[in-house]
Amino acid sequence: MDEAEAAGPGVPGPDDQDFPAHHASRCAGLGELDGLVTHCRACPRLVAWREEVARDKRAAFRDQDYWGRPVPGFGPPDAALAVVGLAPAAHGGNRTGRMFTGDATGDFLFTALHTLGLASQPGSTRAGDGLTLRGVRLTSPVHCAPPANRPTPAERDTCRPWLAAELALLAPHLRAVLVLGAFGWQALLPVLAAAGRPLPRPRPAFGHGAHVVLPATDGGRELHLLGSYHPSQRNTFTGRLTMPMFTEVLREAAAVAGLLE
Ligand code: SF4
Repeated sequence: MDEAEAAGPGVPGPDDQDFPAHHASRCAGLGELDGLVTHCRACPRLVAWREEVARDKRAAFRDQDYWGRPVPGFGPPDAALAVVGLAPAAHGGNRTGRMFTGDATGDFLFTALHTLGLASQPGSTRAGDGLTLRGVRLTSPVHCAPPANRPTPAERDTCRPWLAAELALLAPHLRAVLVLGAFGWQALLPVLAAAGRPLPRPRPAFGHGAHVVLPATDGGRELHLLGSYHPSQRNTFTGRLTMPMFTEVLREAAAVAGLLE
């Protein structure tokens, strides 16, 4: 389905706030979902920002064509581990069009993934640089770069159907979700609850090293939910999150997902 096909009489078009809610759950596969999300324009503030950044550019990338659109998830459709961040960075994913690609945060993440044998290379410069992931899918609760890396609650909620649909499509193979930061944690819990995952009460709190096992439903598998500080430059430059700290949590997540020997 392309942008033109998505809109029709009585059907929300890409500029409508209901575009994600109407279309995401109807996608038959991740390829369709990844394609459709790139057409979404449901959040006027984020559309304006992502396109302004893409027009103005950072001086170091002056000669590059910015993506300037929603950034789809990245990784195989049969991933056992999902890594859920916050949103694409203005000059990272919003420039390259691939999740976590083209900035220091992505380099930190891909270095850790490569250390554990889950990424084919330790860095990420651009879409098409040959990077592949093994058993891991990277995504975020907000698919467009937000000003100051701060989506509003309304933008988070508008984008939620994309995350819900992505996790539903991953569900047959998914065994663990590693959430990077409190924003992603708060965004994910309602998605899991709506998908029928019983959550403990009180709801589990985010923290670095948090690990909750959500019981199986309908004969399915249990799901491991883990938390880590976000590998943002603010956290890694200040030492709040070090590579050993991050690798330890990622290793735990990969192990419970069955990705390590
Ligand atoms: S943040 Fe999500 S819902 Fe909002 S415009 Fe981007 S893709 Fe669409």
